[in-house]
Amino acid sequence: MIQSITTKNEGRPLKWLVWQINLHCPFHCHYCNEFTWGDKRAAKYTWDVYEKMTDEIIERYKYGHIDITGGEPLYFPYIDQIIEKFYNAGFTVGVFTNLGKSVEAYKNWIGKVVYVAASYHPDVIKTDDQRTKWFTRAKILAKDMPMVVRVMIDPRHWDHCLDVIDTLSVDEIKVMEPVRLMLFENHLVDNPDRADEYYTKEQNNIIDSLEPRMSSSPFSKYIINEAIIDGERSEDGEAFVNLSRILRSRQNKFKGWSCDIGIDSLQIRGDGMVAIAGCHNYDNKFIGCIDDPDNIEWPTESIVCPYELCHCDADLFISKRAI
Ligand code: SF4
Ligand code: SF4
Repeated sequence: MIQSITTKNEGRPLKWLVWQINLHCPFHCHYCNEFTWGDKRAAKYTWDVYEKMTDEIIERYKYGHIDITGGEPLYFPYIDQIIEKFYNAGFTVGVFTNLGKSVEAYKNWIGKVVYVAASYHPDVIKTDDQRTKWFTRAKILAKDMPMVVRVMIDPRHWDHCLDVIDTLSVDEIKVMEPVRLMLFENHLVDNPDRADEYYTKEQNNIIDSLEPRMSSSPFSKYIINEAIIDGERSEDGEAFVNLSRILRSRQNKFKGWSCDIGIDSLQIRGDGMVAIAGCHNYDNKFIGCIDDPDNIEWPTESIVCPYELCHCDADLFISKRAI
């Protein structure tokens, strides 16, 4: 069993924030909760609410990385402004998208995002023509900005997904990352074993052994410069691979550990509710809402992990240790 995970960015504690910027997405993936895509509005609030919260985050956290997710961030009307604000404040910015729009929609982000993480959903992108166009878009964008392709391992398209994981070229794309689907219905709090329910035992074992593949031309900037797992130190791309292996191989059980979420992380839900990390978000434990930033109860110290399973990459990346 692992006893400690320490992560750093340029010698400082790694700070990783996640903002689910909306709850609107046209894909309606069968493994995605309707809460995540069913809002008819592409943004719940007006720009002044998002802007004030952005200023508050920049003021409190000072530096760090922020992932912008959805829903689908490409439909969020203020996406360019919010990227610009974090970028100008010196934060690194990553955006998660289903890559459903044409390449022109992404062009404003060139030079401002450290990656675009494009999730490949093979039950929506399902015809040969759609698939060819989707991967062509990813490769075209990869000429201008670092692209990560996240292959959602959909059991309805099992053989196809394994084929993409094996064969997708990482000459232009920076990373091909296999992603295990998880059943979030009970938020994995009551019965974490249900997390693996999408797959047969045999499929789960195969996924345990899958690895991301990285381009031979590395990122110009790594968010996790250093990971120390039980005293073993790794850097840059290797640090990311070693950390993500913990999740994929299901060693992600840290109940009773001291965990630095909140001090070094934040997760904002698409409806504006603020949690200290993904685990608290899925457990509906919130510290405030973005429409009332003056009354957010900001965390001041590490917490003791109360959960059976640490199911989110961004949560797992935050330093933690057995006590
Ligand atoms: S693309 Fe992402 S946000 Fe949209 S429905 Fe699928 S999983 Fe949910
Ligand atoms: S589940 Fe939450 S509290 Fe527990 S280790 Fe993971 S991030 Fe920390």
